[in-house]
Order: sequence, then C-alpha cells, then structure tokens
Amino acid sequence: MPYLDSFNRPIEYLRISVTDRCNLRCVYCMPEEGVAPLGHEAVLRYEEIARLARLVVGLGVSKLRLTGGEPLARKGVEQLVAMLAGIPGVRDLAMTTNGTLLAGQADALARAGLRRVNVSLDTLRAERYHAMTRRGQLADVLAGLAAAGHAGLAPVKINMVVVRGLNDDEVVDFARKTVRDGWHVRFIEVMPLGAGQAGAQAGFVPTAETRAQIEAAFGPLTAVDGSGAGPARYYRIAGASGSIGFISPLSEHFCFGCNRLRLTADGQLMPCLMSERAIDLRSLLRRGANDDELQSAVRAAIAAKPAGHHMDAGPRGPGARPMSRIGG
Ligand code: SAM
Ligand code: SF4
Repeated sequence: MPYLDSFNRPIEYLRISVTDRCNLRCVYCMPEEGVAPLGHEAVLRYEEIARLARLVVGLGVSKLRLTGGEPLARKGVEQLVAMLAGIPGVRDLAMTTNGTLLAGQADALARAGLRRVNVSLDTLRAERYHAMTRRGQLADVLAGLAAAGHAGLAPVKINMVVVRGLNDDEVVDFARKTVRDGWHVRFIEVMPLGAGQAGAQAGFVPTAETRAQIEAAFGPLTAVDGSGAGPARYYRIAGASGSIGFISPLSEHFCFGCNRLRLTADGQLMPCLMSERAIDLRSLLRRGANDDELQSAVRAAIAAKPAGHHMDAGPRGPGARPMSRIGG
C-alpha cells in the first residue's frame, strides 16, 4: 500500500536524477557556459541510489523514473537500470532523456529492464534544434527514437516545452505527428526555473493557447479516458493513433494529485519540485545510517510535501536548485 502524505495523497512515484551533467544546454534549462558540475564524490554511487530506491519502494512507491541532467551521459547507467529493475515491488521503470545518446544504448537499456522512455524534443527543424539546445543534432534524436521503438521501449512519449517566439509555431507540426506517425506528444508549459528564468517567463504560452492552435487545425480534441494519475491530461485528434497530452504546471494546478518525490544526483530528497529545502539522505547514508533511520527520513520528506507549489510567485531565489539538478 502506498504511504499517504499529510493531504492524503498516495506517494507512488520516485524520480531519480542520476547526474546533474548534460551534453546539451537547452536555453530554458541551463546557461550556455559556466555551469559548475557536482564533484564526483558528491554524486551518489549506483549502489547508494539502489539502496535508497529499495527503501522508498518499501514504503509503497512502485514507479521509478531516471532523469538528470542527461541520464544517458552517465557511464554504465544500464547497470543502475538492472539494479532497480530487480527490486521487488517496482512495477514501472522509465527514463526521461534528450534522446541524443539513445541510439547506441536503447537495446542495452531494454535488456537491463527499462520499460519506457520519454524523449524531450522541442523542434523538428535541424537548425533550430541546434540553436535551442546550443549543441545537439536533431538527427541523433530521431535515430534514438527509432532505436527505442525497435528495442520495445514503448510507448515512447515526446515532451515538447512550448516557448513563445522559439518553437510555438511548431505546435501544429507536432500535433500532426500524432496522426501521421502515431507519436504521443506532451506539450509542456515552460516553468520559471533554471537558466533562463526571466526568458522563460517572457516565453510562457498557456496550455489553452496551445490547445486552441491544435483545435483550429484539426478540430475539437477528444479526451482519452483513464489517462492516468500523472500531471498530463490526454486527448486525441479524431482518427489519430497517437495522443496529445498537456502538462500545465502554471495555468492548471495539478498539485492536489501529486504522487511523487524527487531524489537529486547528490542525494537530496525533495518533497516538491519547488522545494527550497530537501532531506539530506546522502549525509545519512554516508554516516552509516541503518534502513530504519533512512526510511524515517523518507517519511519526513513525505510529511513535508506542501499542498501545492508556488510557481506563480515568479522566479526563485539564486540559491534554488536548477532544473538540471532536479530532473524535471
Ligand atoms: N536531460 C533530460 C531531458 O531533457 O529529457 C532529462 C532532464 S530534463 C531537466 C527533464 C525535462 O525537464 C525535459 O523534458 C525538459 O524539457 C524539462 N525542462 C527543463 N527545464 C524546464 C523549464 N524551465 N520548464 C519546463 N520544462 C523544463
Ligand atoms: Fe540537458 Fe535536459 Fe536540461 Fe536540455 S532539458 S539542458 S537536455 S537537462
């Protein structure tokens, strides 16, 4: 049975950031230069992550997701996948990745026990991709998507962060992919986190506007039944085999259904994406805490989950953790 927080929300989902490093520098997430990565010692070892995951699963969490930074940029991540897949009680094991390194790793990840991937892709235009990520090649992501499909990491979901003036003119192109290629695309509102906090605010496009663009091109969307407990609301264009999801952290609060915890690469357990305070599991672990002590600390993080985030209060202070350290 999942553990309940103080607002009676069942906590079923742990997002694990395996590294704060990334091979890209997406404009809304990281600054172009001058990001000091965590030192090697600061980052949890795979054995440490697996131990914490096992204890969190022991409290009723059944769904794990690896994220980053870029999870595929950490060497041997399939070894971690295998450790997590072997924990009794894990029913879903997924990854969020930018997809640029996926082509060479999809098979090994699937063999190790990964079930699904979400691939972040904000544009279908090669030059724009390079500009928005400051380093990436669109062809690598497309190869990664194909490899994920072949490896059975399905259904692959595409995450598109919609930013005014950067890629909002491609919303209809992405929506068309759900009809022509059966893609599952989720349109995400840009959040005031990370590198371009000010820019993100200027580039904010409310879900209602994205949806209106899609409906103007394809007609009314139909809601997909039972679309899960996550933050996305799912729809379909008439006749499409793929689906359209909207994730609206700002325009439509989904905190009342929040079921997750986040573990940062340096072992901090965050009650909420916007938490300025986290529970320092790494120090406990490395001081030799036993399983009971660690599980009490996890319970404390669950108890500290706030009713909701306060993203609408605007950009966070300079001390707040960037998105690339939390993992989205
Ligand atoms: N590197 C991986 C990737 O890009 O998929 C995993 C980590 S990334 C931080 C996870 C997700 O957060 C991505 O889908 C990314 O687009 C999203 N993200 C990053 N910064 C964001 C922001 N300011 N607003 C909304 N989404 C953001
Ligand atoms: Fe890297 Fe993902 Fe952030 Fe882009 S969104 S810079 S790929 S961590």
